Amino acid sequence: MLIALFADIHANREALTACLADAAEQGAERLVFLGDLVGYGPDPVWVVERVAQLIDDGAVAVLGNHDLATYDASISLSAVARAAIDWTTHQLGPAHRAVLARLPLEVPDEDRLYVHASPSSPADWTYVLGAREAFHGFRATRQRLTFCGHTHQPALFSETASSLPHHHVPAAGRPNPLLPHRRWLAVLGAVGQPRDRNPLACYGLLDTTANRLTYVRVPYDIDVTARKVLAAGLPTALAHRLSTGS
Ligand code: ZN
Repeated sequence: MLIALFADIHANREALTACLADAAEQGAERLVFLGDLVGYGPDPVWVVERVAQLIDDGAVAVLGNHDLATYDASISLSAVARAAIDWTTHQLGPAHRAVLARLPLEVPDEDRLYVHASPSSPADWTYVLGAREAFHGFRATRQRLTFCGHTHQPALFSETASSLPHHHVPAAGRPNPLLPHRRWLAVLGAVGQPRDRNPLACYGLLDTTANRLTYVRVPYDIDVTARKVLAAGLPTALAHRLSTGS
């Protein structure tokens, strides 16, 4: 089975549309959304409605901290993220909030686990940025494969018997073999706001038969999204960072 994994869409309609089209072209049979559907970007209503449709059709989705922040004011965010969430909250209606409020923190699926932040404590929104965080993540899960997002930076960790997990920065478009006798923690890059100096939208394709994970980079019309960010009155930094991937 080919599973497409999408993290950190952040209300970026153009990036999500491009990634969904690419995944369909590749033959993805299952879609998984790893949290942060909204926040930062200019199209929260469209993204929530699109993902809600896909959930109705069998897609899996988990909760991100920005999703939670639309209905829980106690979530701590940076000033820019808070300004964007305040704007986002005004755009969403009760039906959109209900979609977000139904998202679980994590979803186990056979030998896989889907979660937005570190599985070590999903509700604390810990970033898996390096081997030490990955180590705690591995300790908290039994599944062979864990998929998360949150950092907006692609990374792949494999568990080792005696030392910290191996940290690998995956190259785009190249299948990574997930050797079956090891456990793996994959941090997907962001669909809608990459921060690895590559502005192309990022999503993952997992081939469960061949045991391979590919990080796919997809071009989209960044100028359109950036113009919408500015037109919405969102912080200008949110428009500029889309073209630098930072
Ligand atoms: Zn995010």
